[in-house]
Amino acid sequence: MNAVYSLTMEERDSILNQLSEEQRVFLADTLKRSRRTVFARHMAARKGARIPETATYEEIEHLLEDWIYVGYIDAGVRSTDLKCECGASLRYQHHVENKKDGRVLKLGIKHLEEHTLIDAKIVSQIIKGFDVLDQEQFEILVKYRDGWQLSDYFTLPLPDGFEVPKDIAGHLELGLPLLDRQVARLQESLRKFRDSRPPSTFEPAGHALPAMDALHAASQPTLSLNTDDDDPQLSFDLFDMEQPQTVPDRPADHTYPVPGLSSSLQAAVRHYLLQGIRSARVLSELLIQHHHADDSRYITEKPHIYPLVSMYIDRIMAEEGICRLVSRDHEDRLYELTDPEGDSL
Ligand SMILES: [Zn+2]
Repeated sequence: MNAVYSLTMEERDSILNQLSEEQRVFLADTLKRSRRTVFARHMAARKGARIPETATYEEIEHLLEDWIYVGYIDAGVRSTDLKCECGASLRYQHHVENKKDGRVLKLGIKHLEEHTLIDAKIVSQIIKGFDVLDQEQFEILVKYRDGWQLSDYFTLPLPDGFEVPKDIAGHLELGLPLLDRQVARLQESLRKFRDSRPPSTFEPAGHALPAMDALHAASQPTLSLNTDDDDPQLSFDLFDMEQPQTVPDRPADHTYPVPGLSSSLQAAVRHYLLQGIRSARVLSELLIQHHHADDSRYITEKPHIYPLVSMYIDRIMAEEGICRLVSRDHEDRLYELTDPEGDSL
């Protein structure tokens, strides 16, 4: 626990009462979503799936067959009205649902193991994950109380054309402070954004060879954040990131260039994408779990089929106009369906 952000329950409630209704709803929704994601992530890990940080619970829950987290009630105080399955009084009542038979259990988190029979090790990871989320809510509240300002961390306004990550924008729109980890991520995104622009914009001095600059700029017309086709980085991302740079040849058991996915796996990718799964990593885990795809992995834990899945989506589905790449990093590639109605949102 980070002592800097510790609060008693009374202090927490008193700060919560100073927030607007909209801010309180946002924090409660975020906490519920985050708990659901933490729960699903640990349940999926139990079956060997490795899920990237950006995956949503909607995606991860496709990998689960039994318990999912569906919500909680905070009575404010320990209440005799709010009970665990075993009858114990609770302040927090957590709700889990069994996907197989639809059974919903309402319980105290300490009894998660005995009422659901989920493995003790997984339960302890879930509880630790929930503690981190509680701690993050404290962090927001303490910072709010202490008058946290974005301008203490960043030169405002943020540069033109820079897109603030969605979760961070949510906090800022409602006047809520950012978590330390969000500040770090925003700093990193800004650094990448600045690096991706022509150097002359930021470093007018110090270039002895302006002609080289012009050449450099002209030779890299696609060096922007949202290149989504004919990306010179693509083959590097997909095939080279997993291999040490010094290895001259591919290992013999990797047949590159790839023939691609089997037609049944292609159909499965198509099916899940149309159902709203955005993450190529999650799609790969679904193919392994539900469609007998090869489950061998790189040392980074990415499945070997991940580059094949990405390539199929990029070269076939994106080309068909079904979806488009919206973000990519060393962890994952995220896609978005192209709206058939043509709405921009
Ligand atoms: Zn109980």
